[in-house]
This record gives sequence, structure tokens and C-alpha cells, in this order.
Amino acid sequence: MTNNWQNNVLTIHNSDLGKFKECEVLFNEAFINGMRPSANKYTVFGNTIHTLLENFYDHFSLAKMLNEFPTLFESYLLKYNVTITFKEKINFLTEAREMLTNFYNLESSRGRLKFVKDREIQFNFPYKKIKDVDVILGGTIDKISDNSVWDYKTNRRKYTIDPSDSQMVIYSLAYKNMNGILPEKGVFVFVKNGSEYVFPMNDYSFQNLDDKLNKVVDFLVSKRDPIPNLESCGRCGLRQTCKHYKPVMKPRAKVGRLYINTMRDRLENSIL
Ligand code: SF4
Repeated sequence: MTNNWQNNVLTIHNSDLGKFKECEVLFNEAFINGMRPSANKYTVFGNTIHTLLENFYDHFSLAKMLNEFPTLFESYLLKYNVTITFKEKINFLTEAREMLTNFYNLESSRGRLKFVKDREIQFNFPYKKIKDVDVILGGTIDKISDNSVWDYKTNRRKYTIDPSDSQMVIYSLAYKNMNGILPEKGVFVFVKNGSEYVFPMNDYSFQNLDDKLNKVVDFLVSKRDPIPNLESCGRCGLRQTCKHYKPVMKPRAKVGRLYINTMRDRLENSIL
């Protein structure tokens, strides 16, 4: 058992809630047994972009970010033991150029090329008691500026936010813990296309967070076996070691397999 869950104290991050929703086995292995899901080329790419954005408010230079990307990406690939082909490297480089340029243009057009005091901020604060369990919320906010909390999304394709997402709710509660009031807004920046989105925070968002925490607390207190979600196996960082792992067949592969089975049956029937 990790330090995150002991003596009826639960320290939890939004990413843990995401794992629980994704697959209880994944949550159990990562959160309770301390296994680290293996990194992949996309998470390494995202980490590299995040580091460059974090340093951006020291220098406001697009050229500096573009120059630093190749060396930093290389060092992160080594650190996380991820190998990619030369062609993939070129593709990531092209993508990084597009992302960082769009990000720079966004910040420039909004007049945000100015010093920001509170950039990446880690937090850990007592939230509330849920069923005799003291829940502590933790995490990292990318930036606090203009009485708002900000998060950079480095996802390469998705530009929408799920209204049931709890990340901004947790960030806002962390801000309140530091400043005594809720922030004016929570903003997601989609770095890939240089756009931003204000999270629609309301009573539902806060209730939704509590519902998620309730489910996790119920699971931990009951000590029941985790239920695997085989739909998530394809992208799971534990698929090399998980005994439940089952590859998800893509629709086209399914049709192909059906065709082969039908032909084989016909052939066998004709031989008989
Ligand atoms: S491999 Fe599948 S069942 Fe195992 S932890 Fe990952 S998602 Fe869950």
C-alpha cells in the first residue's frame, strides 16, 4: 500500500480519478501497489512541451522554445526509455513547431507577453471527510494569473473538454485554499491549435467531484477486487504486465477476421 492511502487518509490527484474511471485494475496497481504505467512517445512529447511552456514566461521568445525542443525531447526520450523512429522524430518536430507557434500567437494576441509570478504550482490540501476518510487533494496547476487558474492541454487531436471533468474544480478548490476565495475562472489552453476554453464551473461540477471521490472511497474501504475494463487495454501503460490484458480488435480487423472464418468454414464444409 502506498502513502496515498493509509490510516483512513486518502491523498488523491485528478489523474488518479481518471485512472479509476478508466479501469479499476489500473487504478489499483498504480495507486495502491505503486506500479508506474510505462511512458509512451506521446506522454514524453507532452512533457517536453509542458516544460517549454513553463519556462516561456522567463523569456517570451518563440525562437528559444523552438531551438530548445529537439535537445529537450531527446533527453526526455532517454529519461523515460522510449525509442522512436527517425520519421517519428521529424513528425514530432513539425508538430512542436506548429504547437509552439500557435501558443506564442495566442499569448501575443491576448497581450500576455508579460511576467507571470505563479507558474507551475504544486498543491496538497485537506478537502473534506468522506465516510470517515480524510480526503486530501493534490496536483499541479500550470499557471495562476489574473485571478484565474490555467491548464495547458498538449493533446494532439482533442480540442473539447468534458463538462464532467474534475481537474479545474480541484484547481479552483486549491486556489481557494491558498487565497480564501474561488478564482474568477478556470481556463484550458489547447496548445495545438492555439485556442482557449473557460471551464463552465457550477454546482454540478462540485457535486460531480464528490460523486467520484465517493466511488473511490467506497472501493478502497470495501477492499473488493478491482473490475478490469478491457475497453481501455489498447492504450494502457500496464498492458505488458497485466494478467487481464486483452487486445481490442479494431472494426476493420473484426470484419477481416469474420471473412477469414467464413471462408475457412466454407472450405472445410466443401472438403467434408
Ligand atoms: S491492461 Fe486492461 S485490464 Fe489491465 S490495467 Fe490496463 S486497462 Fe485494465
